[in-house]
Amino acid sequence: MRLTVLRRSPARPNPGEACAGYLVEGGGARVLVDIGPGIVAQLLLRHHPAELDAVIVSHMHADHMLDLVTLRYVYPWRRLTGRERLRVVMPPGSADQLLSLARGVGGASHFEDAFELSEHDGASSLSFGALTVTPRETQHYIPCWGFRLEADGRRLAYTADTAPCVGLDDLATGADLLLSEATLRSLDEDAQPPEPRGHLLPSEAGDAARDGHAGRLVLTHLPVDEGADWFRTSAAEAFGGDVEIAEPAATYEI
Ligand SMILES: [Zn+2]
Ligand SMILES: [Zn+2]
Repeated sequence: MRLTVLRRSPARPNPGEACAGYLVEGGGARVLVDIGPGIVAQLLLRHHPAELDAVIVSHMHADHMLDLVTLRYVYPWRRLTGRERLRVVMPPGSADQLLSLARGVGGASHFEDAFELSEHDGASSLSFGALTVTPRETQHYIPCWGFRLEADGRRLAYTADTAPCVGLDDLATGADLLLSEATLRSLDEDAQPPEPRGHLLPSEAGDAARDGHAGRLVLTHLPVDEGADWFRTSAAEAFGGDVEIAEPAATYEI
């Protein structure tokens, strides 16, 4: 299985970098997990979307899904037939939001003319060839699901956006590679009590990877204005081993 970090920015982009978008190849399938602003331009350097089996969206925050708008423009401006349409798997309960977005950018059929839209159910595995994708709900400001992606006897886990929670622990457990967000430089940047938290310190990503016996920990979705050394060091101390930073366009064999 292979992971390619198309880009990794948090919601406020790192200068020159697109937001979240990860290409996963394995089991004879190729899927794009999340499609934040700027990702389509990065995808097109490698693949036409017709070469994807699906796009899968973790949650409805703009930095994870807004380039669906752009993706539509790669397709001819007509209603496509079934086999021509790209499978796009959205989070549960997102249909109304997607319809509002479609209307806001042009018309109600903006997406459905080109995409075969569906929602996952928040728990059941999806199959793309021999690649299995299992959603796991995380704790975030809005409903959000990370994914366990399995093929060829290997397992990649992607946290999407999350605070420390049972879902994060489940994702980390037994992952050959844990691709974890690490957005926070301090807890002051997260929601304050009594509001529930929604992101991770790098040390918390390290804790989850250590407790889940993850093979490798790769940090993503982090601000790099002042470099990434503090993130790497802080996570490595908790993890008890080397930690990698998801570099733009980097590929990881799993
Ligand atoms: Zn995010
Ligand atoms: Zn988010």
